Amino acid sequence: MTTYVRAKCHCQQNVFKIPFRTDSLPIPNNLCHCNACRHSTGQLAGYHVRFEGMPLSITTEADEPADLENLTKYQTSIKAARYFCSTCSAHMFWQSIGDAGKDRQYWEVAVGLLEQVDGIVKVKGHIYVGETLDGGMADHFISAGDKVLARYAQGEGGEQLPVGWRAVLKKASKEGQQSEEWIQAYCHCRTVSFIITRPNSQSSIPSCPYPDLLVPGTEENTAKAQNPTDRKWWLRPTGASKPKKYLAGYCACASCRLTSGAEVLAWVFMPRANIIDTKTNEPIQLEDENHRPKGLKQYISSHGRYREFCSTCGAIAFRWKIDRTGLLDVAAGLFDQEQGGARADGWFDWIRDRIGFSEDAIGNETIIGLIEVITK
Ligand SMILES: [Zn+2]
Ligand SMILES: [Zn+2]
Ligand SMILES: [Zn+2]
Ligand SMILES: [Zn+2]
Repeated sequence: MTTYVRAKCHCQQNVFKIPFRTDSLPIPNNLCHCNACRHSTGQLAGYHVRFEGMPLSITTEADEPADLENLTKYQTSIKAARYFCSTCSAHMFWQSIGDAGKDRQYWEVAVGLLEQVDGIVKVKGHIYVGETLDGGMADHFISAGDKVLARYAQGEGGEQLPVGWRAVLKKASKEGQQSEEWIQAYCHCRTVSFIITRPNSQSSIPSCPYPDLLVPGTEENTAKAQNPTDRKWWLRPTGASKPKKYLAGYCACASCRLTSGAEVLAWVFMPRANIIDTKTNEPIQLEDENHRPKGLKQYISSHGRYREFCSTCGAIAFRWKIDRTGLLDVAAGLFDQEQGGARADGWFDWIRDRIGFSEDAIGNETIIGLIEVITK
């Protein structure tokens, strides 16, 4: 027996029928924290689950392989290919193309793009946590429901790493002070490359409403969300005379989910003045067509809301609003783990008591489990 579930991206140029073996449901699934998953998606982990056979066409009743022409293929190694939506950047599929032999060649689909997750996928654990050098997002997602998640250093079944584990950061110790003042960010193919600097006199110039992460966008919060007292909420600790960090947190809104394929997307909220384009040595420019970083592709997810991603490897890089151009949301998966660890606690103050737009999350066991853990 086969259970079919539809998968679709935000722009809906890609809609597929995904075949799962009914007797294997729900499929226990691991979040992958490897360098390739983080830097090719901009997310802190990869959220793909294996299915039987090929992505199928939705236009025929019978099982027919789907046309993949609206997807861009990118190989992160000779053994793995990734397929992202050429328009909206959703990381639809991951394909094992390695060694010959049936079991080594298979497809996986992004969990966040499935129309139904309950009863289809069940979170089991974390793999390749060792590559984060600081535990990455695995330290934020310790258990799902009443189940403690496995935390493998590499693939499933090998050595496990305890919560709070840290590797020695090679670059930080080699370059000492220097890497304390800036940190590099890059996508897997290195088309997108920038550095961020510590908060300075420019960092408090923007005036911005609160994000949903800090002030949930309910009706009674309308006035408060406008930030009438002009708090510089992105600088942390709040109210410090010399803030050292930036606000970071997760978002579960449908736009984030369907433009990425992840169930939650991790963002860092930063002044544009502190994001330096390494090709020009100037603060990054996204509005001016002539000064935008080459190879960055734009997707308008709703009126005045822009998302920027690498057109070659598909990594999500930025999110910004037309009425808030002094501040950018930076995809947290791009930062150089060798400098500060994948989660970069030395740079980012992670909000743990709320996920932005958690009310919009699809009601599945995984997301409920993750939010419960965060709110504990
Ligand atoms: Zn799309
Ligand atoms: Zn991976
Ligand atoms: Zn790239
Ligand atoms: Zn969002």
